[in-house]
Amino acid sequence: MESYRVEPGHEVRLAESDPRDSTAFDGDKTAGKARTKELNRRLEALQEVLYAEGKHKVLVVLQAMDTGGKDGTIRHVFDGTNPQGVKVASFKKPTPEELAHDYLWRVHAHTPARGEITIFNRSHYEDVLVVRVHDLVPPDVWGRRYEHINAFEKTLADEGTTIIKFFLHISKAEQAARLQARLDTPHKQWKFSTGDLTERALWDDYMAAYGAALAQTSTPWAPWYVVPADRKWYRNLVISQALVDLLESLDMRYPEPEESLDTVVIT
Ligand code: ATP
Ligand code: MG
Repeated sequence: MESYRVEPGHEVRLAESDPRDSTAFDGDKTAGKARTKELNRRLEALQEVLYAEGKHKVLVVLQAMDTGGKDGTIRHVFDGTNPQGVKVASFKKPTPEELAHDYLWRVHAHTPARGEITIFNRSHYEDVLVVRVHDLVPPDVWGRRYEHINAFEKTLADEGTTIIKFFLHISKAEQAARLQARLDTPHKQWKFSTGDLTERALWDDYMAAYGAALAQTSTPWAPWYVVPADRKWYRNLVISQALVDLLESLDMRYPEPEESLDTVVIT
């Protein structure tokens, strides 16, 4: 999985990383899915200890183009985890109140507390992505945000938050197929938004904005992973594995039980 991690300071050329890649399982969907199931159970157990121990805070950032699979990732990767300890914060177009504050204001409020995993479905990165692509603020304003973001994430990390960030990398052709499926399938039509076509037309600008963001904000304390995401099973596998590896590295333990429990008699 480490091959998908963006090394700090390295240039990112998204055009050269294959969204259909499935190297780790050599295209073997059946074996890949079986492995993901095992990882699901592992993640379930790790999340329980995380919650019980109440010590670590874990932030998972998901970014992707429309139809990139953020929702599917949340449903599949966190399948079986305890909703009491796993939160999702979705960041949409800012409200007037949010816009009246600095761009990190709405974000900070949703960062995880001890014992929690919080998943950001979109995030503060929109402020250097859609904002940059659509010139919502001048270049000198978004241009300094990479530095803010690194400092913000460093603050969270220094204060005990473990951060991992995934860019779900789909191809433009795969997006076309997924948008078409939304159009053609009655129970998926609610997901279709003509606005997605406007963003799709700006694909190259988005790839440039993502490339810059990934290169400038993959840090030792908050690394980015470029996840090949055209194949959903492989996307789920890569993310599950990276999360299990991360949580295992935290060396978590259940709290010590009260003393002399062996003498307790329940009448
Ligand atoms: P879905 O899979 O349901 O389409 P979504 O994350 O695309 O999920 P939408 O409501 O379709 O949700 O889109 C949210 C929109 O809000 C995106 O187009 C995103 O770029 C935009 N957005 C998020 N944050 C900001 C921001 N800070 N400034 C401007 N636009 C933003
Ligand atoms: Mg959308």
